[in-house]
Amino acid sequence: MNTKTVQSGILSTSLQNYLETAKRLKLDDALIARLATPKERIELSLMPVFPDGQVHPFKAFIVRHSDTLGPSKGGIRMTADVTLDDVNGLAMEMTWKTALIGVPFGGGKSGICCEAHTLTPAAKEILIRSFTRAAHRHIGPEIYVPAPDMGTNQADMGHISDCISYSSGTSITHGCFVTGKPVITGGILGRKEATGRGVVHTILAACEKLKLDIQDLTVAVQGFGNVGSVAAMEVARAGARVVAVADISGTVYDPKGLDISALDKYCQQHEYVKDFPNAQHLPSSAVLETDCDILIPAAAGSQITQDNAHKVKAKIIAEGANAPLTPQADEILEKNNVFLIPDILCNAGGVFVSYLEYTQETQHEQMTVEAVESRLAQRMVKRFNEVYDYAQSEKIPMRHAAMNLAVKTVVEGINARGLHP
Ligand code: GLU
Repeated sequence: MNTKTVQSGILSTSLQNYLETAKRLKLDDALIARLATPKERIELSLMPVFPDGQVHPFKAFIVRHSDTLGPSKGGIRMTADVTLDDVNGLAMEMTWKTALIGVPFGGGKSGICCEAHTLTPAAKEILIRSFTRAAHRHIGPEIYVPAPDMGTNQADMGHISDCISYSSGTSITHGCFVTGKPVITGGILGRKEATGRGVVHTILAACEKLKLDIQDLTVAVQGFGNVGSVAAMEVARAGARVVAVADISGTVYDPKGLDISALDKYCQQHEYVKDFPNAQHLPSSAVLETDCDILIPAAAGSQITQDNAHKVKAKIIAEGANAPLTPQADEILEKNNVFLIPDILCNAGGVFVSYLEYTQETQHEQMTVEAVESRLAQRMVKRFNEVYDYAQSEKIPMRHAAMNLAVKTVVEGINARGLHP
């Protein structure tokens, strides 16, 4: 059970980024306070009985930061050390991300304090159903729509959807209660790959603006989960040389370029990159210091801080993860002329395709994978270009540009709705 009460790294990063943006935009105090605090911060106690016949207590959290632009949207993080503050910070990030990528959602997030990979599939299904039952009144197509995040996946979303339709005695839910479901139960083709693919669309758009040829560039990827593995595969397919990949077991490194499909197959069998043949093996943290052109942090938050930012050799950082850089790291990297593709832009492909799934569910017509991929590519490139052009015209860093545009959009929504309770 989690006992951390201090403000977490993720929340302090999100808050600091927001408060600086509010200052730049000269928002009034009431508005600043309104968006600094979430609309709802909920703590749940789950007591599922596992297949061993024992009760296993878990803490869980839901935070709805904003629903100004639509129902709160954001994934369920299942990690042992997730805190209510982390979930709060991540929910705030979702508010900016949905606004920036232009989908009619607010920001939300959930957390379940459990190390997902220690559970058997049966125990995980029971835990997910227990969470759904406890959280049911906070979840709905007009309230909060969860999705996968670290530690949760398509199968879990299928169980949530089943649990909700089961409780109403119907075969399907009335509207979209959760995205990232298996395609067979109403999910959308291409959702699983959407975040990683979106990351690479923004990288290619950056190369276009910076007049770089992706075929000349080397890449290091931190994290080989759903985001990191797809991003590594796609960037290699685009012609880049992926020289380093890391997960919690270590970094595998080959200056000539790793075979990413072979690494992917290896990880399906062995779970971790450790001992992947024909590569050098280094500690996990080494990936951040790799000699490369592009670094994709696609793992946990607060990975690049004031302690290691000066060791980053990459010239472009694409934030596949949420809040992988602290504000102090931002400053150091900015001084070192590192070009940043900020998280709320870089990894927004997942929630964009979640929006397509949300609309697909009310239209009862399956979108083709080609349609999903082309809409994803168009939206990522369009938004990247808008943020880049704005950053250039205002002479401000990419993070500031993305945050300015996102916060302005939410404020416009607040003003359009009116300030009555
Ligand atoms: N967990 C993902 C994120 O952080 C996806 C959220 C969603 O699709 O709702 O963006």
